[in-house]
Amino acid sequence: MTVTTARWRLLILGGTAEARALAAAVTTRSDVSVVSSLAGRVADPRLPVGEVRIGGFGGATGLARWLTEHRIDAVVDATHPYAARMRVSGIDAAATAGVPHLRLERPGWTAQPADRWHRVADLAAAVAALPTLGRRVLLTTGRQSLATFTPLTDLWFLARVVDAPDGPLPAHVRLLRSRGPYTVDGETALIREHDIDVVVTKDSGGALTEAKLTAARHLGLPVLMVDRPAPAHPPATVTTVDDAVRWLDLHLPAG
Ligand code: NAP
Repeated sequence: MTVTTARWRLLILGGTAEARALAAAVTTRSDVSVVSSLAGRVADPRLPVGEVRIGGFGGATGLARWLTEHRIDAVVDATHPYAARMRVSGIDAAATAGVPHLRLERPGWTAQPADRWHRVADLAAAVAALPTLGRRVLLTTGRQSLATFTPLTDLWFLARVVDAPDGPLPAHVRLLRSRGPYTVDGETALIREHDIDVVVTKDSGGALTEAKLTAARHLGLPVLMVDRPAPAHPPATVTTVDDAVRWLDLHLPAG
């Protein structure tokens, strides 16, 4: 049996590099015990330090119950910018359970003068715009998005995914199983090797997967950028792990 002297209990909703960095940062505090939560979508996830639980909670109601049962004192939602359902669920559950809640979300990418970005609101708009931009596509929007591109039977896709998709695929597709980080040289070589003429991406932000944008800029290729889902009621949000730690120091005071 584990005996803990921690005074506070923190839940981190994770699945991102920021979530892992926050878990690592908080372990420096002996008065806080951290549980990191993962959805369980990836077969071999990168794990944070400390306690980890895996799997959905059963919506906002299930999460609110979980927060109460596990005597959680604060929630930091550090899920991916496109994990829209979990974000809403976290806000609602924390309000129901009366637990302070913070969103930790990395900033999106910013276009540079030489970039040829085309921003669209969602995947459906990306499907509509893509045939006007190219024929051979580097598709990096994730395996759950692949079925959306099936109407585009005239295009060829190099679809980069972490795990094998289990849904419908575009008619002309080559799957590339890999996980970042990526380099500009590597991305440039990949684009050249497959004669890619357009890149499709979410606006995930961060350094780990940014190299494809630099490569596209150097090669003069268009990038179709699917915007982040905009929350109807944005929660209190910080963009860095350091700011999340400062927020925790306020809400879970030491001593
Ligand atoms: P989503 O659509 O917002 O979430 C769908 C459901 O998965 C949620 O309702 C929840 O189930 C469960 N879930 C999601 N994140 C969870 C977490 N951290 N812990 C426990 N349950 C979680 O999310 P998604 O876009 O499928 O992403 C799933 C996970 O992958 C997220 O944790 C996210 O950080 C990570 N991720 C997503 C992307 C992306 O592009 N979407 C990229 C990289 C990493 P219940 O309702 O049953 O609680």
